[in-house]
This record gives sequence, structure tokens and C-alpha cells, in this order.
Amino acid sequence: MCEELCPADAITIKKNEVSSDKPYKIDESKCIYCRICKRICPEDAIKIVLQLV
Ligand code: SF4
Repeated sequence: MCEELCPADAITIKKNEVSSDKPYKIDESKCIYCRICKRICPEDAIKIVLQLV
């Protein structure tokens, strides 16, 4: 669901992949921090952290 709704096309769901790693990937270089993915995730799987570097 988040993959389809992300306005920046930043989310890739790793389908058919068996792994202990996260089942999704967010391309931070594309993300515009709109937080849509966090609001709609039924599993509360996404945390958005802004960092000053
Ligand atoms: S916060 Fe980033 S990854 Fe999430 S929906 Fe918005 S642009 Fe996509």
C-alpha cells in the first residue's frame, strides 16, 4: 500500500524475498518526508527520523 501511495516513488517492497532484514527499502535520496507511509502503515513499521548533519 505505501509503495503505491508514496508520491516520490521512494519505497520498494521486497516481494518474494526471504530475509530477516526489513521487507521494504526506502530510498532516502527520493524521500520528501511527507509521512504518508507512516500514517497509512497498519503495522506501524515505518519510523521517520530527521537528522541534521
Ligand atoms: S515519507 Fe518519504 S517514503 Fe514515506 S511516503 Fe513520503 S516520500 Fe514516500
